Amino acid sequence: MEKKTLLGLTVDELKAYMKDMGEPAFRGKQLFAWMMRGARSFSEMTDLSLKLREKLDEAACIGCLDVLEMQSDKKDGTRKFLFGLQDGNTVEGVFMKYRYGNSMCVSSQVGCKMGCRFCASAIGGFVRDLSAGEMLDQILSAERETGEKIDHLVVMGMGEPFDNYENLARFLRLLHDPAGRNMSYRSMTVSTSGIIPVIARFADDFPQANLAISLHRLTDRGRSAIMPVNERYPLDDLLAAAEAYGAKTGRRITFEYALIKGENDSDSDVELMIRKLRGMLCHVNLIPLNRVEETGLDGSSRKRAEEIAARLERSGIPATVRRELGSEIDGACGQLRRRAQQERE
Ligand code: SAH
Repeated sequence: MEKKTLLGLTVDELKAYMKDMGEPAFRGKQLFAWMMRGARSFSEMTDLSLKLREKLDEAACIGCLDVLEMQSDKKDGTRKFLFGLQDGNTVEGVFMKYRYGNSMCVSSQVGCKMGCRFCASAIGGFVRDLSAGEMLDQILSAERETGEKIDHLVVMGMGEPFDNYENLARFLRLLHDPAGRNMSYRSMTVSTSGIIPVIARFADDFPQANLAISLHRLTDRGRSAIMPVNERYPLDDLLAAAEAYGAKTGRRITFEYALIKGENDSDSDVELMIRKLRGMLCHVNLIPLNRVEETGLDGSSRKRAEEIAARLERSGIPATVRRELGSEIDGACGQLRRRAQQERE
């Protein structure tokens, strides 16, 4: 009989599971707390009876990820993980140190359907959604490996989180649950390539969480050429959805803009960005593109990125250039997994 995976279940579901086992329901809450603290085996759960621990051991398991690889950037403390899933697939996660605390960048899918031209996760296409437990386990495994506590989340790894919304929502609620980690929604950021209908749902469900939208170009023609999702959800509709999001939540949306040399970093690109975004409750995060060999695209220089940020700021649009974390390692989405695949080929 296959063992039941418990990580990813809510307190109520664990309570029901305990009742099915003939145990009092409150044991479910104890189980939840242990798992959220990173317990890896039932034998660690010393406030459960030995008999119950043995019973659980036979019927269930906790997590599902193996750490296959960990790369460290000694300069800034960034660690990049390659995780193995039970079915043999792999995903990436990145642990990052900031002044305000530690953050984990989590993957939401194996591969991706979006097909963005500059992104390594698109190569090889979509394989499957991750479960809430598999997203959660990326955080717990990284804490175990690093010995550090993670108190911020960004869903900016492989995959499109709004294409796996049910599992994403479950994952965020599990992290927030006071019976476990009690992570504030304000410490969570989800990034989407622009799936418009889910933006409104997210605003309703998680008005305190942060939303980032991958913009990258400010014309339909240009954006569609690098992001096929734009054909389904065109730019002006996306910007209207972002406005509505701001009006509803009062929260400043982040627009991500990957600077691709000669593609979207000219003065006229910047002027267009200013015309389109001025007056919006937003912040622009400029990211010099990480080079992915297969795409043939290059990032703009750091200097050009700083110039563009300054120009946006002068126009009243808050802008930052993303700190280049993990520059010594395969830092961009999907790159570590891609390299591991190539080594196997
Ligand atoms: N699918 C979601 C979240 C994952 S990607 C989304 O598209 O938002 C997180 C960010 O990294 C996105 O803005 C994405 O466009 C960007 N990105 C992807 N490949 C990149 C690369 N090679 N260099 C820089 N940024 C990249």
